[in-house]
Amino acid sequence: MAAVQLSGIFKRYGETQVVHGIDLAIDDGEFVVLVGPSGCGKSTLMRMVAGLEEISGGDLLIGGTRSNSLPPQQRNISMVFQSYALYPHLSVYENIAFGPRIRKESPTSFKPRIEAAAKMLNLSGYLDRLPRALSGGQRQRVAMGRAVVREPSLFLFDEPLSNLDAKLRVQMRTEIKALHQRLKNTIIYVTHDQIEAMTMADRIVVMNAGRIEQVGRPLDLYDRPANLFVASFLGSPSMNFAEGVVASGAQGPVLKLGDGAEIGLPGAGAPVGTKCTLGVRPEHVDITLANQGAAGVAVVTMDIEVVEPTGAETHLYGKIGGNTWCVTSHLRSAFEPGQRVTLSLPAGNLHLFDTESGRRIA
Ligand code: ADP
Repeated sequence: MAAVQLSGIFKRYGETQVVHGIDLAIDDGEFVVLVGPSGCGKSTLMRMVAGLEEISGGDLLIGGTRSNSLPPQQRNISMVFQSYALYPHLSVYENIAFGPRIRKESPTSFKPRIEAAAKMLNLSGYLDRLPRALSGGQRQRVAMGRAVVREPSLFLFDEPLSNLDAKLRVQMRTEIKALHQRLKNTIIYVTHDQIEAMTMADRIVVMNAGRIEQVGRPLDLYDRPANLFVASFLGSPSMNFAEGVVASGAQGPVLKLGDGAEIGLPGAGAPVGTKCTLGVRPEHVDITLANQGAAGVAVVTMDIEVVEPTGAETHLYGKIGGNTWCVTSHLRSAFEPGQRVTLSLPAGNLHLFDTESGRRIA
């Protein structure tokens, strides 16, 4: 097992810099997910850790050893990719045994490891099969089996679930998390899918344009995003936003929106005149047909434009200050398009950001 430390890591392709000085310390046994939109540099960063991409600058320490120039095979890393790249003419057993055989290990030494890995990954009944006789999920499990038998100090997963259908992705998510709980190894996992990041990670690293936006435990990031990027990236449906200017109202500070509507800002720490963006998650808005929200809670009216039942809950869409908002209701049939509703925005669940810098205001 190994801790991993990145200090001031950057990457240039010719004149173009795509990773801009990453500092990140990953503990031994930690499951860290790198998440961010396509092109933000996640794969490049992971490939630098793996030794598949040259590091342009900074220090990479794996298990305390500076590893910038160490060849990949000396880093004691196993990698699982999106394409599982199994050998089609080899059985499941031989696919998993491929690495140990190449390294000239004796079968008596690797056979028990393969059997243990197969058992852990529910592949024991499939060891004689060829890959074409397996489902997508089983093939991905064989790819993981191949990674597990190496007994690496560090696992790297690069979008391993992207090729699977939605249902299988959910199932494999749970399996990878369970695998980590059993093996307690260090994992760096790359995905663009914020749900994968939220559900699997011990800590999430949110990346954007070659930089880290925020690092933290999933629910800490969800509850206290440090900036507008993280606030809008994590959560589905996404956080609702309203832009305006802080003004003083009869009962304290308000956010005056572009269309003249005002939202009370109880206890907000931004001076009058500041351009701010208010954020609130769909599930934190209380919706009523009545004209008044609860006492002491900021309210705003919305005309429902679209009603989207998902079964478990219903999403109601409308416009606030020119932005489309989504509000989650657990009532199945209480609302319909065209209705004017009152939204109550409980102070404890409001997020306020400086519009220009994007930073959270305490
Ligand atoms: P992600 O994994 O987050 O989708 P990547 O790490 O693949 O992003 O890419 C980060 C950036 O680096 C992108 O803008 C991409 O176009 C650029 N890039 C990746 N590989 C190369 C390359 N070999 N040459 C030039 N630019 C590259």
